[in-house]
Amino acid sequence: MADYKHRIVIVGGGFGGLAAAKALKGVDAEIVLIDRRNHHLFQPLLYQVATAALSPSEVAWPIRHLLRRQENVRVLMATVVGVDKDKHTVLLEDGSSEPYDTLILATGAQHAYFGNDQWEAFAPGLKTIEDATAIRRKLLLALEAAERETSPARRRALLTFAIIGAGPTGVEMAGAIVELGHASIKGQFNTIEPHDLRVVLIEGADRVLGNFKPELSTYTLRALEKMGVEVELGQVVSEIDADGVSFGEKRIETKTIIWAAGVAASPVAKWLGVEGDKAGRVKVEPDLSLPGYPEIFVIGDVASVLQDNGKPVPGVAPAAKQAGQHVARLLRQQLAGEGARPPFRYQHAGDLATIGKSSAVIDFGWTRLKGWFAWWVWGFAHIYFLVETRTRIFITMSWLWIYLTGQCSARLITHGMAPEKKPLDEVDEE
Ligand SMILES: Cc1cc2nc3c(=O)[nH]c(=O)nc-3n(C[C@H](O)[C@H](O)[C@H](O)COP(=O)(O)OP(=O)(O)OC[C@H]3O[C@@H](n4cnc5c(N)ncnc54)[C@H](O)[C@@H]3O)c2cc1C
Repeated sequence: MADYKHRIVIVGGGFGGLAAAKALKGVDAEIVLIDRRNHHLFQPLLYQVATAALSPSEVAWPIRHLLRRQENVRVLMATVVGVDKDKHTVLLEDGSSEPYDTLILATGAQHAYFGNDQWEAFAPGLKTIEDATAIRRKLLLALEAAERETSPARRRALLTFAIIGAGPTGVEMAGAIVELGHASIKGQFNTIEPHDLRVVLIEGADRVLGNFKPELSTYTLRALEKMGVEVELGQVVSEIDADGVSFGEKRIETKTIIWAAGVAASPVAKWLGVEGDKAGRVKVEPDLSLPGYPEIFVIGDVASVLQDNGKPVPGVAPAAKQAGQHVARLLRQQLAGEGARPPFRYQHAGDLATIGKSSAVIDFGWTRLKGWFAWWVWGFAHIYFLVETRTRIFITMSWLWIYLTGQCSARLITHGMAPEKKPLDEVDEE
């Protein structure tokens, strides 16, 4: 690698970090991208891996491969555990460190259990490929165990799936589980029927998709109910254990609970020794730099910054991408000797969510779409934003196949063999 005078370290190869690295192509600086994983993940389609519609390699790509054409980029697989702002170094888990002239922190968010971290063992969230394949395994094993179960109460618990949180991920998971159950049970199992499946979506607010316009929430609620999803609104979960979930006066016996209720920023505020907002995000200047440290930028889900309308920039993929591109533009200007640092201006394209494989809701702000047409728009939008041509073709083919046949081809139980024959001791026989 050439001898560069400036070193830009980017931590995180997600939407924000990758966009920044790409937009810095050809600048006269060494760019070091550090990620604890070797792949960039397209999280918006992760629920399709969890529900066996897509395979992991259709939603994730090696970061090295994505940046292979950029001569000024080095990719390091390592976990960052801190930042020394005075020495201008990033501290790594193995005790080593990486020096920087400019630092871009883009480490995203993680699940938050609102002080009930013990729930994580029973109600995994969806954030990584491992989370998605673990949830897929849980879903498919529950069907296999139900096929062999002779107790009606235990079988009912095995065929009950609870999702906590009715934002886009919760809604998408609920619809996809119904469809997975129907597609895999029909004609392929002997003792269980598609109508035995029970999917319960639990939400603390009084409507699903709280960020969307109320008319789209109402439409989504009806569409979910039509699919057979039981939606419990205004219900705050009080307990989760190995055999079920409790809220209000109710208790649902289930072996499969999925957490889609909350996220918090990764611990960047702690690394920087600053106070985060209530979701742990770092409050940044309008140009996305850390107050008092113009050489440190914080972007994406881990940053807290307001739009011109006074509302916070949302924690969504386009916002992280645009932030990465904004910082890259500033750095290009800085390296070219220009001093201007314009503020970050986020352009919101719209909010999208699918409800099963043939319905969706989209709020563009200026117009709203719902139903079958919205689903096609959602599909095209996601294919457009995917990273590689190969993936675009593969996913289009997979979706067409599922659309025409109803069959999910990635129904593989990995990381283990037959389901444990472990009775649900706490479930009363009826
Ligand atoms: C299930 C799910 C569905 C979603 N659906 C949508 C959607 O439909 N539309 C939408 O716009 N947004 C969606 N989002 C949100 C969107 O994915 C995020 O807003 C976006 O990924 C944020 O980008 P980011 O760059 O800030 O972080 P990320 O994309 O999360 O990237 C963070 C990167 O940092 C790395 N990292 C973290 N900690 C460390 C560390 N200590 N050391 C080294 N590397 C580290 C991670 O490995 C990761 O690669 C969804 C999110 C999830 C979880």
